[in-house]
Amino acid sequence: SMTVIGSLNMDIVNRVEKAPLPGQTIKAIETSYIPGGKGANQAVAAARAGAKVEMIGAVGVDAYGEILLENLRSSGVGTGGVLVKQDISTGLAFITVDGLGENRIIISPGANGALDPKDIDEAGKLLDEPDLIILQNEIPYPTLAYVFEYFAAKGKYIIYNPAPAFVPPENIYHMVNLLILNETEAAVLTGVKTESIEEVHSAGKILVAQGCREIIVTLGAKGLFYMSSEGTTMYQPAFKVKALDTTAAGDTFVGAYAAAIAEGKPLQAALHFASAASALTVTRKGAQTSIPQRAEINAFLAQ
Ligand code: ADP
Repeated sequence: SMTVIGSLNMDIVNRVEKAPLPGQTIKAIETSYIPGGKGANQAVAAARAGAKVEMIGAVGVDAYGEILLENLRSSGVGTGGVLVKQDISTGLAFITVDGLGENRIIISPGANGALDPKDIDEAGKLLDEPDLIILQNEIPYPTLAYVFEYFAAKGKYIIYNPAPAFVPPENIYHMVNLLILNETEAAVLTGVKTESIEEVHSAGKILVAQGCREIIVTLGAKGLFYMSSEGTTMYQPAFKVKALDTTAAGDTFVGAYAAAIAEGKPLQAALHFASAASALTVTRKGAQTSIPQRAEINAFLAQ
């Protein structure tokens, strides 16, 4: 089984013609409430792809928290490790999408920002020992560092998606089995420009030198680049689809890839499976609303 430790957010999405200027008030064309948060998205993606998944995280005592928990359960994610925190609100993401499809996002971390190391111990006791751990950067860094030490010491397989990107204050890469990141995140982490495949390759070498055993750099519509410390490098193109909304593409990739390796798919097939899952995600609107089920992924691969 696998455990995702990370954020849960309610995404409040306002579709507008033009984003408001300072001092301006405008009307939204449409407002939607969509379950999101990188942690929860990846947990849902893995569960829908067929994995046995538990989530560790936190919500507040409010209606959003209840909706997010119910949504995880209905996707097959275990919520025994999601704490309900008093006196703090559930994480929220305020998203404005303008007529050109450009996003402006404000994250209010709420309970995600209050997840601390003792919560991990508390939640961890409720769960079976997972084989595989998935982490992102939407929880406080001290908690993340604690989780790395805790699970690396137990020899667990750690997948780290360093999003949103920042340079960690100490080297945590030696505890990473698999780093999955996009081009922007690779650039932030290494200081290398990542516009060409050669540049992505150079960034990959830096991360391997820092201790990562395997790296996948996702390249949006261009596909992905894979590198291992054993010297394998590989490029795989993306599936050709009509992109409608790329929200949660990266999260779907992470969850689906984890599900694929957990069931023993070999490297190439696992990469293919995750690319198919995320290609389906970009053809649909929203975060968790767009993440495909295993049967849809297999049907897409069979066509
Ligand atoms: P993020 O959402 O983190 O920025 P990417 O944009 O790199 O991540 O997308 C992750 C994966 O989703 C890609 O490796 C690719 O497989 C798939 N993907 C993203 N955009 C498209 C697209 N326009 N067409 C097909 N696949 C896509």
